[in-house]
Amino acid sequence: MANESLRQQLALLYQLQERDSKLLTIQQKLQDIPNQIEQLQATVAKHEVDLAAKSAELAEAEKTQRTKNAEIEMNAVQREKYQDEQRTVTSNEAYTALERQIEFLDQQDEEAEDTILLLMEESDQLKQELGELETLVNQEKEKTAAETEQLRQELRALETERVEQLKQRKEFLPQINKVRRDEYHRWMKAQLASQSGAARAKVGFVALGKNGTCSSCRIAIQPQTLKEAQKYEKPVYCSSCKRLLYVEPTTPNGAFP
Ligand SMILES: [Zn+2]
Repeated sequence: MANESLRQQLALLYQLQERDSKLLTIQQKLQDIPNQIEQLQATVAKHEVDLAAKSAELAEAEKTQRTKNAEIEMNAVQREKYQDEQRTVTSNEAYTALERQIEFLDQQDEEAEDTILLLMEESDQLKQELGELETLVNQEKEKTAAETEQLRQELRALETERVEQLKQRKEFLPQINKVRRDEYHRWMKAQLASQSGAARAKVGFVALGKNGTCSSCRIAIQPQTLKEAQKYEKPVYCSSCKRLLYVEPTTPNGAFP
């Protein structure tokens, strides 16, 4: 019976479409997961930059401390020289001049010591912050590594699943009439060629007609069209979304969809 055959073909096409929808979901995930992994890596890289900046700040504070300490040491040598000279000078004026030089060194030392104290406080603060940041970054890294590993596993599982689904699809395909099959493939190809068409492709080319409504566009099927479609004699398309209609039979006989 010709009409039974078309109805069966529509059922098979609908099954193919469900398979393809699943495949498209897998395909989408296969594209999304590497991006997710990349984002996780970028977050880690940003943390490392923060950590390096904090480390550099601490190194700078410690370097300045060393410079100031060296200044104090040099002043000590200079002070000793002046004091030696003081023992040998003969005039009061020369002695007082040396005294002033020594006082100047004392003043410099005092300023350097004040700076060192401030820098020590700053370094302590920075060390504490650095420690906290390191703990945080290490926790983030561990979390990211676990998440990345999970995503990679998911990716491998999806790849296996995709291969399996494609194999099953290939075995399934010959059951469908070549004309119907080609029409379906042309439509799918056209949708997938456009950026916005992926969602349409996922909804599919075959629209179920249930309770007199097209399941794709949700618009009531015109009574004449519905009557035509329920005969299953020739392909009937939704007048609004142009999809191939696979309608519920008038009497519940056999499986639907
Ligand atoms: Zn429609």
